Amino acid sequence: MRTGILLAVLLGALACAAPAGATDLAIVGARIIPAPDAEPIDDGVILVDGGRIEAVGRADEIAVPDGTPRLEAGGQVVVAGFWNSHMHLLGEPYRDVAGQPAGQLAAVLQEQYGRWGFTTVFDLASFGGDAPVLKQRIAAGEVRGPRVLSVGMPFFPLDGTPVYTRQLLEEAGVASPEVATAEEGRARAIRQLDEGLDGVKLFTGAILGRDGVKLMDAPVAAAVAGVARARDKPVFAHPTTVRGMEIAIDGGANVLAHTAPADGPWDDGVVARLVRDGVAVVPTLAMFEIEIQREQAPPAVVERFVGNGQQQVAALAGAGGTILFGTDAGYVEAFDTTRELQLLAAGGLDWRQILASLTTAPAGFFGEGSQRGRIEPGAVADLVILGTSPEQDATAFADVVHTLRAGEPIYSREADAEPSR
Ligand SMILES: [Zn+2]
Repeated sequence: MRTGILLAVLLGALACAAPAGATDLAIVGARIIPAPDAEPIDDGVILVDGGRIEAVGRADEIAVPDGTPRLEAGGQVVVAGFWNSHMHLLGEPYRDVAGQPAGQLAAVLQEQYGRWGFTTVFDLASFGGDAPVLKQRIAAGEVRGPRVLSVGMPFFPLDGTPVYTRQLLEEAGVASPEVATAEEGRARAIRQLDEGLDGVKLFTGAILGRDGVKLMDAPVAAAVAGVARARDKPVFAHPTTVRGMEIAIDGGANVLAHTAPADGPWDDGVVARLVRDGVAVVPTLAMFEIEIQREQAPPAVVERFVGNGQQQVAALAGAGGTILFGTDAGYVEAFDTTRELQLLAAGGLDWRQILASLTTAPAGFFGEGSQRGRIEPGAVADLVILGTSPEQDATAFADVVHTLRAGEPIYSREADAEPSR
């Protein structure tokens, strides 16, 4: 009896100390860069509650409630969580996701994405139907990792399975997702979006190796894109050539999954069209460098080729177009973001433009500008804590100490730096 009373008193005391709605976490002491266009805040405080940002400001403006777990971040820099707008759920760890232990999946996701500050990743084609399962397991909180968005199976032209996907398809044991007619494309787009996928991906120009480039029939591209756009879902395109780009944009595609270095610099007309039609571009410059180096190209050729991509990014950014950061990780075994950051900076983007490509640009483009991309009260607490400031050197965006998604750590560089009371 006495024990029962004691327990009730203790529980009552605990309830008083931590009423419902008590602040879950305080990040203290850091320089906060709330958004690319906002003034940084020194010796800042961010209060997190229920997965959202409760308050942000200077330490002398914001009181940390007693008992709130604190993450000491003196000397560090906080920015909003990053988006990787081009990656792939490909390879061994993402096969048969339903049967994989949660801890194993979380470890892979932490190493490949959390470690580099990504709180949202967009899978731009995977095979075998595992993407919706992984999405769901993460969304349910069962697997710890970045939020996954996915287009699932891509749409290839008839007789246009890209040469580099043939082995992936074989390994996944699935038929090539070629699409023969507009009607077939429309039906599959409806089916995939009904499954809960987040967009579609068109190969309007598919690379067939020695057989050149196979273009998608324009009516097929338009039919697939039309289904997605009617539902406000993005339409990604892999165009390869200028003609592939025209088919994509005419059909309604609104994100180019890559720049097009093989096609030379973009002239003002191409850039103006992308801006006018609101077409975003994912540069994937480091991926192109890896690919051309793999072909043993001489350094001058590598530089010119990657330079074309850099020119395209700089021209689009200069004209007010939308750049979305993405690495093509999963297709290339390169998860470290440092090289992509270096190439973007060397191409002429300043650190604010690069931060925008990681945060506000994708959040706004994908319709979540009021929820993500900025550190402001009410926004989802997707946050990255950096060891050094990107204001001097943009590669600091790869110097990640902690990544928090909805207030929960999905990566911490030092195990002993977890929040403490
Ligand atoms: Zn890709």
